[in-house]
Amino acid sequence: MIVARSSLRIVLLLIGLIPAMGQASSVSVKNLRMWQAPDHTRLVFDLSGPLEHRLFSLSNPERIVIDMKKARWDGVLPVLDYSGPLLARVRTGGQDKDNLRVVLDLKQSTRPRTFVLAPYGQYGHRLVIDLYFKKAEDAASRKPAKTGVISKGSVDKKKIIVIAVDAGHGGDDPGAIGRRYRTREKHVVLAIAREVTRRINREAGMRAFLTRKGDYFISLRRRTRIARSRGADIFISIHADYIPGRRGRRVRGSSVYALSQRGATSETARLLANKENASDLIGGSFADKDDILAKVLIDLSQTATIAASIRMGKDMLGTLRSAGPLHKYSVAQAGFTVLKSPAVPSILIETAFISNPGEERKLRSRSFQRKIAASIVNGLRRYIARGSIQKYRRHVVAKSRSPIVATRDHQPRYHMIKRGDTLSGIALRYKVNIDAIRFANNMPNSKLIIGRRLQIP
Ligand SMILES: [Zn+2]
Repeated sequence: MIVARSSLRIVLLLIGLIPAMGQASSVSVKNLRMWQAPDHTRLVFDLSGPLEHRLFSLSNPERIVIDMKKARWDGVLPVLDYSGPLLARVRTGGQDKDNLRVVLDLKQSTRPRTFVLAPYGQYGHRLVIDLYFKKAEDAASRKPAKTGVISKGSVDKKKIIVIAVDAGHGGDDPGAIGRRYRTREKHVVLAIAREVTRRINREAGMRAFLTRKGDYFISLRRRTRIARSRGADIFISIHADYIPGRRGRRVRGSSVYALSQRGATSETARLLANKENASDLIGGSFADKDDILAKVLIDLSQTATIAASIRMGKDMLGTLRSAGPLHKYSVAQAGFTVLKSPAVPSILIETAFISNPGEERKLRSRSFQRKIAASIVNGLRRYIARGSIQKYRRHVVAKSRSPIVATRDHQPRYHMIKRGDTLSGIALRYKVNIDAIRFANNMPNSKLIIGRRLQIP
């Protein structure tokens, strides 16, 4: 991962050095926005056109300099919140009259990543700078999930079902925006996701964590990566639906979606998947080594995963109708990126229509948020009670026992965990599924203990 990231940075810096095409007049920097994520701070400069830029770090004192070629700052620098751990101040310094220099004064050294984004939807050209905390490579996935329930020893480890609760959008991707109150999807779905997580963590035998804990952007792939690294058994992504035009004002109810391998079940499902997948165009996303690995692994069990997801979706629809009307009575399918790689039963829930002013009001209310969260947890409880997860785990293990390996090698295989090992790396090396390794070794999550011997199924 470190290799992938540093090479990525070089590529990105080179992109910044290549002069943008057709750039004659100067670019105006119109605004600067900032978001604080657990492992990084994101700065987004809104630009009038494509920009050529160069970024470098200086120390004593720690600072980052961004030179923007043929650019000027339009208006005044916005007031930013400098209470976070990284950024002390943003200032502009006149390099010369044609070029703009922006200096970020830092409280500690950081690993910057910069890239430009093309216009999409309401957004124009943007320059994004992500400032990662040093040593916190992936704070969200590094931190082990709360193990309170497990350590009590009252519940059998194998019976704990771990659920990744994914609040859609965030940060520079607001999701859909309501018409009457300008409600942002990212805010209401986070409120619902938090409520779902709280409720799950009160249940015996279930444990939940959020993929996004605040108002910041995470790419769709990163969401699934967090879910995998924290050993999720189930992945649920929470959203609010939007339809433009007059129909969007009247349409109502919740719906449940699963991944499709072949096309979408309907045109609306396809359009919805396009809309939800656009998140990466708004906030930027890069494939890395882990994503390629994920692609290899999901092929092992994708048919089973989709079948299990649809089963879970049906249970979810059964309980969602107690919170409000249903928009669709069956589980629809389309190519949702966020459902592609967790390799566990995964669904996307569109809680209500934010384009309908009545439902927009509902989505904002605590009482509806609690009600819909309660019915989501009930749906999960119903699905888990069916024993489907256990059945699914057994299936994944059976699938991963490749006959070629079995005939060639009768001896059980073991792997001694060394520093730097990751479960995904071990899985790739032995060409087995992550879930199969976890299952064979009774692992409640993907945490590896150095020196422990793992049986390779
Ligand atoms: Zn959404």
